[in-house]
Amino acid sequence: MRLVLLGAPGSGKGTQAARLKAELGVPHISTGDMLRAAVAAGTPLGLQAKAVMVAGQLVSDDILLGMLEERLARPDAAHGFILDGYPRNLAQASALDQLLRRIGQPLDAVVKLEVPSAVIVERCRIRFLAEHRADDEPATVTRRLAVYAEQTAPVAEFYARAGKLQVVDGVGELDQVTARLQAALGVTESEPVFRDPRSLAKAPEN
Ligand code: AMP
Repeated sequence: MRLVLLGAPGSGKGTQAARLKAELGVPHISTGDMLRAAVAAGTPLGLQAKAVMVAGQLVSDDILLGMLEERLARPDAAHGFILDGYPRNLAQASALDQLLRRIGQPLDAVVKLEVPSAVIVERCRIRFLAEHRADDEPATVTRRLAVYAEQTAPVAEFYARAGKLQVVDGVGELDQVTARLQAALGVTESEPVFRDPRSLAKAPEN
């Protein structure tokens, strides 16, 4: 299964990907985690990315594409992956399309976790208290949500137009959300809970 998980920062992509990876038998590839590891290790890439991440902005497309290409070439990704945090803008979405076409591994599914921004702000506030992630600081969360609305929301529209997008309600208990994702991906018997992606064009971005 080659899956892209979309959703605003704090929508639960990372948590849900970690839950789905065993069941799907594929690695969870989080570009945010990879960048945080590079920052922690003090690599040149990490040093370059750090200030951008703390400011809640996006790290350059070139850096991300190189990092992703290297990661997808590792043997554990040969039979699929869950991408979390990539693509983050339209340029990355088309770079991913080209990369996957080149390596003959087209996406099987794109699922967006839909969570209202008031819930996101509260989740990030709680995560900030627990994990002290600098970019969960309230002012930075506001900036990240603005970057998301401006640059990442069009990525969902891009996949919706291609007929690939499913939108899953990301509000509720962790198990409930996992069950909705499993249903959307066809890995359980129950009915998927998702909204019509055509409504995306009109819906205000949360
Ligand atoms: P995340 O954990 O996915 O919320 O990512 C944390 C931060 O890492 C983001 O706010 C960005 O600064 C950076 N980042 C992660 N993924 C990407 C990406 N695909 N493109 C650009 N920057 C990214």
